[in-house]
Amino acid sequence: MDHFLYRDGALYAEDVAISDIAEAVGTPFYVYSTATLLRHFRLFDEALAGMEHLVCYAMKANSNQAVLKTLAQAGAGMDVVSGGEYRRARAAGVPGDRIVFSGVGKTREEIRTALEGGIRQFNVESEPEMVVLDAVAQELGRVAPITIRVNPDVDAKTHAKIATGKSENKFGIPIARAREVYALAAQMPGLQVIGIDVHIGSQLTDLAPFELAYQKVAELTEELRADGHQITRLDLGGGLGIPYERSNADPPLPSDYGALVKRTLGHLGCEIEIEPGRLIAGNAGLLISEVIYVKSGEGREFLILDGAMNDLIRPAMYDAYHDIIPVIEAAPGIEPQPIDIVGPVCESGDTFAKQRPMPPLHAGDLVAFRSAGAYGAVMASEYNSRPLVPEVLVKGDQFAVIRQRPTFDEMINRDTIPEWL
Ligand SMILES: *Cc1c(COP(=O)(O)O)cnc(C)c1O
Repeated sequence: MDHFLYRDGALYAEDVAISDIAEAVGTPFYVYSTATLLRHFRLFDEALAGMEHLVCYAMKANSNQAVLKTLAQAGAGMDVVSGGEYRRARAAGVPGDRIVFSGVGKTREEIRTALEGGIRQFNVESEPEMVVLDAVAQELGRVAPITIRVNPDVDAKTHAKIATGKSENKFGIPIARAREVYALAAQMPGLQVIGIDVHIGSQLTDLAPFELAYQKVAELTEELRADGHQITRLDLGGGLGIPYERSNADPPLPSDYGALVKRTLGHLGCEIEIEPGRLIAGNAGLLISEVIYVKSGEGREFLILDGAMNDLIRPAMYDAYHDIIPVIEAAPGIEPQPIDIVGPVCESGDTFAKQRPMPPLHAGDLVAFRSAGAYGAVMASEYNSRPLVPEVLVKGDQFAVIRQRPTFDEMINRDTIPEWL
């Protein structure tokens, strides 16, 4: 559920008309709903009620400072995957003891930043990383709390580019080697083993792969405890999918997921951490774009928008589907006609949808891409020297620009000219 609904035929974000924001900000832009962000965070929080837990929002999905602050004030922790994200989380007011650090390639510098600034735990992904973490922690006279990310060799049944839990993926340590690696970690004075971490992929629309992975984590917990390790925390990753295509979707709910966590891991008495990103931010955002031209090709019509692949890369990168709806609802009884929906960038990959049934649209009309709040603005670029797409946050009847569109001068002046030119 989200808070983007039609009122008298006009699309609203909470109590603000999308067309009013478009007038103030210009298109294209992202718009997020505070109520939707909070609702999704609370669904997870409630799904784990009865177990000691922390919901660590995977901020790579949408790391705007205002989004982070909204969630942090509601009690969310953060899952970060870079020194930049760590700094963003701290800048948004998240204390170090609510930040977990994931990722396969943490540098010494990033590790130092997190150790000095305070960190809940590092999710360690390899033995070489363990060695470096131990060394940096000892240099600083600290002890780094760690979980080790295990790769359970489970097929997440999602798009190949976002599956992370098969043995051929670069993530984690093969679960079969976990006891050996935990034994090594236990001997490193700069590390304190506190738990296990697993994250098998993103946009999972079936609970079965989670169940397989979590059963393996439960078994491993017992084995590691028998080996003498203190396993008190289980980080279960993120990955729960959202219904991008509303007409044919019925994905599992956070409450189903919470029940699964209790069933598979509840008996172990561990503190549970989860790292949802997409499910919190995805349906809390729209990308709004204006129709520039309607062009007739040979046996094909094209809707050419002012938004492009540089603003929302998911269709080009993951073959992703986004519902695209008119901001002013079509009159009842009008038959949708198939049309290709494209951006102005000079690549055929800059196609959002092919032969998508749409009501008749004209130059100047606005359309909204649904489910664009996660992996949208954060992946945007200035390709084709298109200004970085701005972001807007709505709360009730208020809205605010939370990232400005840069001016062309700002864009150009970021480059510097060597003195020989
Ligand atoms: C990307 C990622 C997540 C979030 O995944 P979603 O599908 O957005 O929920 C969580 N944990 C880790 C380690 C990740 O890399």
